[in-house]
Amino acid sequence: MTLQGLHVPGWGERIGWDGQAIHVPDKPVVPFIEGDGTGPDIWRATQRVLDAAVEKAYGGARRIAWVEVQAGEKSFKGLGTWLPDETVEAIGYFRVAIKGPLTTPVGGGIRSLNVTLRQVLDLYACVRPVRWIPGVPSPVKRPQDIDMVIYRENTEDVYAGIEWAGGSPEGEKLRLFIEKELGKKIRPNSGLGIKPISQFGSARLVAKAIRYALASGRDSVTLVHKGNIMKFTEGAFRDWGYQVAREQYGDVTATEAEVSEKHGGKLPAGKKVLVKDRIADSMFQQVLLRPAEYSVVCTPNLNGDYLSDALAAQVGGLGMAPGSNEGDEHALFEATHGTAPKYANLDKINPGSLILSGEMMLRHLGWGEAADLVTKGIEAAVAAKQVTYDLHRLMEGAHLVSCSGFGEAIVARM
Ligand code: NAP
Repeated sequence: MTLQGLHVPGWGERIGWDGQAIHVPDKPVVPFIEGDGTGPDIWRATQRVLDAAVEKAYGGARRIAWVEVQAGEKSFKGLGTWLPDETVEAIGYFRVAIKGPLTTPVGGGIRSLNVTLRQVLDLYACVRPVRWIPGVPSPVKRPQDIDMVIYRENTEDVYAGIEWAGGSPEGEKLRLFIEKELGKKIRPNSGLGIKPISQFGSARLVAKAIRYALASGRDSVTLVHKGNIMKFTEGAFRDWGYQVAREQYGDVTATEAEVSEKHGGKLPAGKKVLVKDRIADSMFQQVLLRPAEYSVVCTPNLNGDYLSDALAAQVGGLGMAPGSNEGDEHALFEATHGTAPKYANLDKINPGSLILSGEMMLRHLGWGEAADLVTKGIEAAVAAKQVTYDLHRLMEGAHLVSCSGFGEAIVARM
């Protein structure tokens, strides 16, 4: 590993990995990508809040050794590449990182930065906690009933990018092969896409979601799929999910069917997590009508994409929605919105998404006390109606603060 060009503080230490879990030293090195557009504004506010929380919780005994790594427009302008190999290597080496939003480069032959980072580091779970912060304007009557964590598969499904244009030579070749060799008719001039969903990919995601539920005291994992229609992809996801629950976590999980048939609808003693499944379309109704019945939600890529954004809207929008991309050894925490370029360098945008992603990162490091301070600070700032323009325009009697001002309002209330 070459750390050339990186300014790694001499006092920082690398996060360890024993094949099962990460080991976090008191002064871990954490690479950050500032991001494009409004990225620098929200990153500055985020770093201020996270450092203040760690300082307040541990009084100097713990501290993050931040290291900037390049990606996106800043990198392209300075180094002539959108994603330097050193950045991917550094995140791989240090194991935990955080990023602001990146411009998606337009034009052929350029790797999508987010997709590349996910693939190279095998960040197979996109994790999105969805919880309402009291006071944030919401379009639903009881946003307080929503407290879910979505585990979305990140590497497979129609997102694998295996597709051909209708009428293209490759598309025609595939269409005729399917017609002649497999006996299924497809109209000429049809675009064709492949939806791979593997046992390996499904099982490791469901196992991760169950481990998370167990570690965080959450009482259910819901497999969301469209298996009634797509039996061998989405249906298989559900079946492999139940299989993992049974074979690897059978001592601590029970299925909804078992519980209703044998235990009067209640989890029996000793069992900690209820595993159930819902058809995707019905799940969109459920999260509106009976959100309190769902806790951890585990789903293939496309369903997860739709569901994450729909749920984020229910609790007040993407401006406050955190997220991460996680593998076994690596985790990359990120703002879930884009670069919002029209607000770049105006110190205006809401840094809440990246700050809450930083809160997730602190929990991932095992620094729960500092994470709790971030939550407390952000809840108190919103309760005091000290909010950025996006929330200000929807809240009565609110006080408008800048991006950095919101950060300061959080720090002042930790
Ligand atoms: P966007 O940057 O998310 O912005 C769309 C609108 O959402 C903004 O104009 C603003 O609405 C609102 N918004 C976004 N972030 C906000 C925040 N932190 N606080 C308050 N409001 C916020 O989406 P886009 O304009 O479609 O995309 C711009 C660029 O970002 C593109 O290059 C895209 O590819 C990229 N992108 C990157 C990521 C990523 O890196 N993960 C994700 C999505 C998009 P108002 O105008 O109403 O205030």
